Amino acid sequence: MAGKIRIAVMHFAHETVTFLRNDTTLSDFIYPGSPAKGEALLKAYPKSYMGGFVKMAREFDSVELVGIESPLWPKTYMGSGWVTEEAFETLVGRMIEGLKAEGPFDGVYLSLHGAMAVRGIARPEAELARRVREVVGPKVPIAATFDLHGNEDDEFLEHADIGFAVKYFPHYDEYLQGERAARMLLRLIRGDYKPAHVTRKVPILTATVRMWTGASPWADLIQRALTWEAREPDVYVNVFFGFPFADVPDVGITIQATTNDNAKLAAEIAKDIADFAWRKREPLLSSTKISSIAEGVALAKQAVAGGETPVVLADHSDRSGSATFLLKEIIAQDLSGVIIATIADAKTTAKLKADGAKAGDAFDMEIGGLVDESAGAPVRIRGTILNAVEGHGQFWVVVKFGRDNVLILSTYLVQMMEPFSLATLGLDIRTFKVFAIKSRVHFRKGFDDNAFAKTILLVEPDQPYLGTVHLDALPYRNVDLKKYYPYGEPKFRS
Ligand SMILES: [Zn+2]
Repeated sequence: MAGKIRIAVMHFAHETVTFLRNDTTLSDFIYPGSPAKGEALLKAYPKSYMGGFVKMAREFDSVELVGIESPLWPKTYMGSGWVTEEAFETLVGRMIEGLKAEGPFDGVYLSLHGAMAVRGIARPEAELARRVREVVGPKVPIAATFDLHGNEDDEFLEHADIGFAVKYFPHYDEYLQGERAARMLLRLIRGDYKPAHVTRKVPILTATVRMWTGASPWADLIQRALTWEAREPDVYVNVFFGFPFADVPDVGITIQATTNDNAKLAAEIAKDIADFAWRKREPLLSSTKISSIAEGVALAKQAVAGGETPVVLADHSDRSGSATFLLKEIIAQDLSGVIIATIADAKTTAKLKADGAKAGDAFDMEIGGLVDESAGAPVRIRGTILNAVEGHGQFWVVVKFGRDNVLILSTYLVQMMEPFSLATLGLDIRTFKVFAIKSRVHFRKGFDDNAFAKTILLVEPDQPYLGTVHLDALPYRNVDLKKYYPYGEPKFRS
């Protein structure tokens, strides 16, 4: 092909917990740096999908990438509910305007997540692809990358040509899937690859805490997809585990197989992996041990006594970031040497910021809780402020209390993925025996898969709140739980 190959690059991502009370609004997507366009967009997430895509695409001299003005992740990150229609229409409207203004293009890359939920739009990623298709016409290839928590069915690929989801949870292969998307988009543009895809739904619905791919049988499910990709040239398999905390019609497990113009092979692969997931449905749901908060804190105490430290106490269920159940129990069982990271409390952190809180100040306040029943009641903490600092769009307050315990207050939900990030708050991580964090699986990256922690304990409150494994306690309106294992007797056709 002579001349430049022009590729439009766009980004729109959210993992929406539709059961949270705070909507994800237009203003949540607008902050210094977001929306981003041009080089700023292309450099926005250098180690993630975007970074991989840009790196690979720029290996080819003939390629010109154009960053179309796009929103980055909202300020609330994953701690917010339904994306408003105003946010979706305004942001997508601007993206589409940008696409028209900067075109024409030979290809489009969409950097997505897949579990965005928008009021009034059942399948927002597919809707975005549909609108992009309207602009670029039927012949211009559209490639996308996804998180494996995407809630997807075949609608996205009715408008786009090919998609690549990460295979690991934690998502180690975001950059790799971005690279693949670039390489394949170029092959599609050159007419060297003609995607044939088959999508299969598997009616299994479960909480994300169970989905760690570091152990069987989730590891086996992914290995099966990897084996198909390795044994047949030009095969790509997406195994979407789905995201159950979004009340949308396409939840549950989804398998997508894509081949180079071989529909029969795509069907064979999708069926094989879907059948495998269905056969393994019982162990898929029972392999992860989850303790009550009281039990977990007692086990942490035992592990400390036995020298099996550091210990991770992960409250996987906290969706707002404000939950205080674990903090309360740590105080009740008088644990020492614990770091609690974090309790999200927008009001308290705003007040502390306004009051000019600084290191050395005495601290005596009720913190956390209240945002909804899953956050519990506020807890009174008396101690000394060690640090109070602005960073990443949040205000952070570090409070020392009790017997060598440290509490970190943040503005929004913070998922602590690795202990060393605490050093930026002036903390020496070696001094802590227990890390009480809010994370389901992502923490395994920096606490488990790297052998940092000797003891890993997953906990959740006894009550079936938002975020716990008790999905049947959630007020779904768009999902009929009876159609999913283990909540009913779903029909699965092999
Ligand atoms: Zn994910």
